[in-house]
Amino acid sequence: MVKQHFVVIGNPIAHSKSPEIHQHFAKQVGLDINYSKQYCPNDTSSFEAVVTAFFHGGGIGANVTVPFKQMAFELCQEQGGLSKHALAAGAVNTLMLRQGRLFGDNTDGQGLVNHLQALNWPLEQAQIAIIGAGGAARGIVLPLLEAGAASITIANRTVSKAQQLIDDLQSGHERLAKASLYTKAINELNGEYNLIINATSIGLSEDTLPLSKTLQTTYAYDMMYGRKLPFLQHFAKLGATTSDGFGMLVGQAALSFERWTGHRVDSQAAIHILQR
Ligand code: NDP
Repeated sequence: MVKQHFVVIGNPIAHSKSPEIHQHFAKQVGLDINYSKQYCPNDTSSFEAVVTAFFHGGGIGANVTVPFKQMAFELCQEQGGLSKHALAAGAVNTLMLRQGRLFGDNTDGQGLVNHLQALNWPLEQAQIAIIGAGGAARGIVLPLLEAGAASITIANRTVSKAQQLIDDLQSGHERLAKASLYTKAINELNGEYNLIINATSIGLSEDTLPLSKTLQTTYAYDMMYGRKLPFLQHFAKLGATTSDGFGMLVGQAALSFERWTGHRVDSQAAIHILQR
């Protein structure tokens, strides 16, 4: 059988666990694949060159991570097509070719929802706060609403970006136009939520989030993974149930793998094995 080629493109990229996860999926379904990490300079022309070279070279599928998800969206908008979730999110994490043209999907949000449901965290009628307004935050709003969330507040360091995100979502999607979506500065987020999700990239830096002392939540989820996360430590001390984003990473990867290869994989088994 011919080896199929996949890649994850990011900056930084050395920490990525995607190759391990996809190799595990390939083993589950008996495929022989090559999945590599690709560093890319943070500019549009470099990103376009990397994507074009990969698919011209016969690559089957590419994952896109920080900070390229919006660039990937724009590239697909110009050159090809976009899925419903990519359109709602304005961000792409999964690239492939369809009839020879670039096609972008976004599996982050559904990967998150699948993980939250596997953890048995209730989403029906949940009051949710998302901290962060980048590509990752954009990708999770529609799937959380589809899973039953009653309201979503987006808190960001730059409040205008959170407002822009909501304006984009509400003008581009009927389901979102009617949804209860709010914005706040991070330090103004207070009161009680059912679930707070950290969707900032702060885990990659030494900074900490300016969280209000009155902010409470039953469940706290950090989309980062792989080391002790101050965001989760903070809410665990206040009595919240917490999880890092490794299960989401596996969940979104499982959906990308399925889109590319047509094979369904067992995410929960992968989480247990890979976490060891
Ligand atoms: P972006 O670069 O698009 O957005 C970064 C966000 O983080 C912005 O809202 C930015 O605020 C905020 N931010 C960055 N630094 C700080 C800081 N020092 N203080 C407060 N806010 C800060 O990144 P993405 O949205 O693509 O990704 C965000 C995170 O989610 C990453 O850590 C990524 O690894 C993780 N992720 C995890 C996934 C998983 O499967 N587990 C999937 C997708 C993402 P501002 O607008 O003010 O600059």
